[in-house]
Amino acid sequence: MKKYFLLAAIILICSSAMPTLAQDFSKVEIKATKVAGNVYMLEGSGGNIGVSVGPDGILIVDDQFAPLADRIKAALKTLGEGKLKFVLNTHYHGDHTGGNIAFGPDAPIIAQTNVRKRLSEEQKSKFFNRTTPASPKEALPVITFDNAVSVFFNGEEIKVIHFPHGHTDGDSVIFFTGSNVVHMGDDFFNGRFPVLDLEAGGDVEGLPKNSATSLANCRPA
Ligand SMILES: [Zn+2]
Repeated sequence: MKKYFLLAAIILICSSAMPTLAQDFSKVEIKATKVAGNVYMLEGSGGNIGVSVGPDGILIVDDQFAPLADRIKAALKTLGEGKLKFVLNTHYHGDHTGGNIAFGPDAPIIAQTNVRKRLSEEQKSKFFNRTTPASPKEALPVITFDNAVSVFFNGEEIKVIHFPHGHTDGDSVIFFTGSNVVHMGDDFFNGRFPVLDLEAGGDVEGLPKNSATSLANCRPA
């Protein structure tokens, strides 16, 4: 069986990871773990953050929740002195993009077209039983793409590939091609039944297909 480095996207399911007025972030600690090559993982609350660290600076994949931004910034400082240069969003859910408001003024946010579209508009979800207001301008992606984009950073090509209709209609999977690490966003749930946001274009048949395609794109470690 092939071995590969999987930066498991999420520990908490989205519904529990979404912020509510009662959610208390005061005790959340940000833990950093080296995955492979240039890539680290930050765990806190919400989708795990992928981090590329090296001579070009820092790139992050997703940014959890705004109240954690200062702790995330402090954790990044422990990994390297370089500046934050890019933020990638794997999809629009708040446990992956809530920190955009804090990181957007520091670095351009890159995401698939549908992510910006959804963040720009009020989202009403029956499944999550809530209405999420449109994000302010500084929290929106400023670079969007339809199918794929590459960022050449820290000596490797970081491929950001859109996988349509899996968890949402705006999912991207991030391949750190030199480090041989993949960040699956919420197209992969570790050890639990996946969440599909059907109201936002998620698809039951699409999700396993996306996982299989992602796996096929990984090389043995
Ligand atoms: Zn999600």
